Amino acid sequence: NERIVGGSYTKLDEGIEFSLRPKWMKEYIGQNKAKNKLDIFIKAAKEREEALDHVLLYGPPGLGKTTLANIIANEMGVNLRITSGPAIEKPSDLASILTNLGKDDVLFIDEIHRINRTVEEILYPAMEDYALDIIVGKGPSARSLRIDLEKFTLIGATTRSGQLTSPLRDRFGVMLNLELYKVEDLANIVKRSASFLNVEIDDEGALEIARRSRGTPRIANRLLKRVRDFAQVKSDGKIIKNTARDGLDLLEIDPLGLDSVDRKIIKTLIYNFNGGPVGVDTIAASTGEERITIEDVYEPYLLQLGFINRTSRGRIVTSKAYEHFGVKK
Ligand code: ADP
Repeated sequence: NERIVGGSYTKLDEGIEFSLRPKWMKEYIGQNKAKNKLDIFIKAAKEREEALDHVLLYGPPGLGKTTLANIIANEMGVNLRITSGPAIEKPSDLASILTNLGKDDVLFIDEIHRINRTVEEILYPAMEDYALDIIVGKGPSARSLRIDLEKFTLIGATTRSGQLTSPLRDRFGVMLNLELYKVEDLANIVKRSASFLNVEIDDEGALEIARRSRGTPRIANRLLKRVRDFAQVKSDGKIIKNTARDGLDLLEIDPLGLDSVDRKIIKTLIYNFNGGPVGVDTIAASTGEERITIEDVYEPYLLQLGFINRTSRGRIVTSKAYEHFGVKK
């Protein structure tokens, strides 16, 4: 069973993800709070002809962090270099990336919380003083050498800001929280994507896909791709409410966008734990899902729907969820 809901980039996104990415701020739909702040910081930096402050973007996967990094580089008129925390294995890997950046360039590090300690320590002087401290030689003859770097902007992405060490977090001048999207914004994203894919879709069709996309543009684009196939085979190719609904029902995505894992989580809480409170590790163990997947992908949406609450003693199921699943309390 392929994970339509799963947050990270997968094969499902091949062929669409890159081409559908907005390139400019005016094409970036929703996230107005983050956009308004960024607009000002970008204008100010450009007027001063300086690199933009380092930016930390945090929020669940698929909400547009990589897209925003691209847009920032475009708006600033500089080059973008993309890498990720786990891809930088040694301090020398990071050193070579940093020394190859041009003036005011943007370095995007996805999953920055997964960067290892020795690499992270290279980042501190780089972010603060635009310098690298390199140890040359070994043993008693070893000495430290300082190399100046061009000024640059680091954009880090992570799912939750709390996953970063505080020395790293403190070195970001701008912290932007990306939130799950509103249904109306997702419907606009679906319509925009449909026009790029040359698919005809009406407002109701777009809304039906949006409502089942769990606040996440990446999922909206995946669902659109699936509904497009469905519409092509089962009707005239145009997506209206009924085609969207029938296509998504076939994928077992329910009207709220919940999938089998959400149902498993809620039902485990209800039937095995009497509705909670239950710690997230226990939920992970009894559903067979990874803790991180539950925390980053499933929980944010279940919280937004008001199906679970977080308490100091663990997660509890709300009466709204009991109702939705037709279970008596
Ligand atoms: P993240 O880096 O947060 O995991 P991405 O930036 O890769 O997410 O975005 C995933 C997909 O969603 C991309 O194909 C992108 O086109 C689309 N997308 C994300 N945010 C927006 C937005 N605000 N407007 C339009 N499309 C978006």
